[in-house]
Amino acid sequence: MSRPRVIRCAACAGRIKPHHPHIGVEDLETGVEFSYHVRLGCQIRCAEETDTRLEAGKVFTAHHYHSARCPDEAPGFGCSGGCFDTPMAVAN
Ligand SMILES: [Zn+2]
Ligand SMILES: [Zn+2]
Repeated sequence: MSRPRVIRCAACAGRIKPHHPHIGVEDLETGVEFSYHVRLGCQIRCAEETDTRLEAGKVFTAHHYHSARCPDEAPGFGCSGGCFDTPMAVAN
């Protein structure tokens, strides 16, 4: 396996610790994955940027990475570890 890579948030350029929950948006064509913090500001950027990329005709899949302490494996919100308590999109 490769060495642990430094993950940076595509929204705020801050570092994401690998054992912290984060969101990955993977470009299925290139395999490039954009990572985002779970906090709201970064998630909003994530949604906006993904929309822009989708409009450019790209295809993405989103990954939800739980924190190392979280007992849940399944992706999504409301996990028992509370990783993704902040809703992905703000209803308005
Ligand atoms: Zn961020
Ligand atoms: Zn979790």
